[in-house]
Amino acid sequence: MNFEQRIPREASARLFEEAQEYFPGGVNSPVRAFRSVSGPPLFIREGHGSHMIDEDGNRLLDFCCSWGPLIHGHDNPHIRERVIETVLRGTSFGTPNRLGNQLGKLILDNHRYVERIRFVSSGTEAVMSALRLARGYTGRNKIIKFDGCYHGHVDSLLVKAGSGLATLGTSSSAGVPETVARDTLVLPLGDRDLLERTLSEHSGEVACIIVEPIPANNGLLIQDRSWLECLRIKAWKHDVLLIFDEVISGFRVGFEGAAGLYDVAPDIITFGKVIGGGFPVGAYGASKEIMDYIAPVGPVYQAGTLSANPVAMAAGLAALEQCLAPGFYVEMAARTHRMATAIEAYARERNYPVHVPHVGSIFWLAFGTERIERADQIDAANMQYFKIIHHELLQTGVYLGPSGYEVGFVSSAHSETDLQEGVAKICAAMDVAFGENQTEKS
Ligand SMILES: *Cc1c(COP(=O)(O)O)cnc(C)c1O
Repeated sequence: MNFEQRIPREASARLFEEAQEYFPGGVNSPVRAFRSVSGPPLFIREGHGSHMIDEDGNRLLDFCCSWGPLIHGHDNPHIRERVIETVLRGTSFGTPNRLGNQLGKLILDNHRYVERIRFVSSGTEAVMSALRLARGYTGRNKIIKFDGCYHGHVDSLLVKAGSGLATLGTSSSAGVPETVARDTLVLPLGDRDLLERTLSEHSGEVACIIVEPIPANNGLLIQDRSWLECLRIKAWKHDVLLIFDEVISGFRVGFEGAAGLYDVAPDIITFGKVIGGGFPVGAYGASKEIMDYIAPVGPVYQAGTLSANPVAMAAGLAALEQCLAPGFYVEMAARTHRMATAIEAYARERNYPVHVPHVGSIFWLAFGTERIERADQIDAANMQYFKIIHHELLQTGVYLGPSGYEVGFVSSAHSETDLQEGVAKICAAMDVAFGENQTEKS
């Protein structure tokens, strides 16, 4: 495949070359390097509403939305005003502050599944702290996670299933000690018998089961409610804690996230992304009883110099207040549904092997005709199609996350016209990847 450039990318290319001198691979987070798609990564200069402008001046309709945080799009006026107002009073005090109270209250008043919350500065930090809390609360070390769920770059979760029948994990990153990995048991999503067997075999050793209730970091692997309910029941039965990692789904598929959407109550929930309105915020929450294990009340230590930073709290408040507007989530889901089904209908008419799983305002371009619910059902060979589609979309001014394993996000700043434009351009890109043009070009 010949990836012809029809948009200028010189400024981005130059900046990326310079960045190689400063950062490993030229980036500060690996997927940004565009290794699974063509060309240098775009350096983005600014964003407004549903669009971003790169350093070459290309205007792009953005479906990446900073990987999820920007549920109100770029440069949202309410968030901007609150942030500026806050910045004018100083940016950090290392003390409790009123804005932290306000965001805490707003969340607890509107979320049935948490009674106490602790703010941290990233999703990874939230997950890391939640695991420590689960281990401190239960006095046990082992954790159960699922293949296809991502929980940030926490040591004990950078673990994949070991070979053979053993579910004992082996580390998926250099630098993670095998002794750490061995405390993580990795299971396939949806295997109820194996879960039961694992919990029985390791009776008295398991602190928690952690799951992305809506796995959205390895494609969008939408789960049955009954499976989430099974996790809840088995966690109770075996007296282990259930952690929902809602860093993506929290405040995204509903104010109460996946817990509310499926009405399944976990013991601990982790948050990130949307909660910070575009600033670095994470959080974890649980019942008062569990959260009272955290210092200074309890024995589990966890702290942060910039935790509940006032500017970040102001941004989070302005973001979440807008999410509480009546009908907000219903409208977002309806728009995303229309967009996803329009793309699917186009693909079906032409026999393109594409479907578009979606929930709330999250969608994924999935290749193949079968419903995909587990990581092992994704065919890596199909990612060549994503590469073509991604390239075509950049040429026509649409930005998707630069990997076929990443989901897309719709924001409240995406107008009906934006979404129709997105559909038309994604369909045109599918024509290039799957249509007759493809044979001419390859
Ligand atoms: C993004 C994400 C994380 C990690 O959050 P960071 O802010 O990138 O550290 C953890 N869990 C899930 C489910 C995520 O989507």
